Amino acid sequence: MNWQRVYDVLAHLFPALSVSRWWGIDDPYERSWGCVLVQNTTWHNASLALNRLREHGLTSIVYMSEVEVDRLAQVIRPAGFYSRKAETLKRLAAWWVRHGGVEGVESLKTGRIRRELLGMKGIGEETADTLLLYVLDRKTFIGDQYSRRFVNRVTGEKKRTYDAIRREVLAAGLKTHDLQLLHAYIVEFGKQFCRKRNPDCPACPFAEYCHYSFRG
Ligand code: SF4
Repeated sequence: MNWQRVYDVLAHLFPALSVSRWWGIDDPYERSWGCVLVQNTTWHNASLALNRLREHGLTSIVYMSEVEVDRLAQVIRPAGFYSRKAETLKRLAAWWVRHGGVEGVESLKTGRIRRELLGMKGIGEETADTLLLYVLDRKTFIGDQYSRRFVNRVTGEKKRTYDAIRREVLAAGLKTHDLQLLHAYIVEFGKQFCRKRNPDCPACPFAEYCHYSFRG
């Protein structure tokens, strides 16, 4: 895939999209809690839980690390899997505190941060890379369901793994901000055009060279 070309086409398709507006959150810690809360649920449910964290004054890393896990679980109930997510949030908060917050983590190499995040129970590749890309402005990519569906359909290959897509996009040499936008574009594209069911191929700008579209 020519990822610069994909980026250009999607940037043309979504000219008004900005990273800040797409997230709707600028605080780095709130974004990091959002990365955990959205696991296996919708952003709508994650937002409800995030709002409840705000209402209970629990969005700072200090309060998050000090709150009792059972109380936290009740606060984030709208996100589902709340007991497990509460434990993960506590582990993530302790990690932030241990490193001195965003400022402390900024001095660490990306590979080390990724390894440490992946070593935390409850944090997988998608969560770790979302946090790296959108909270810490590090170069990585998220080979999530939207990216895989798009790549698999366009290329006609079914075997691209999360990591294969991540490495392939990174090899294209896009800047960090463009990687942030590219992922946001692909998610929006996956919701509006390359939907799981009934993709809108006639209106899609990739239709003329998409394997799935040829196949009908
Ligand atoms: S042509 Fe259809 S299947 Fe291919 S990328 Fe576009 S929406 Fe997805």
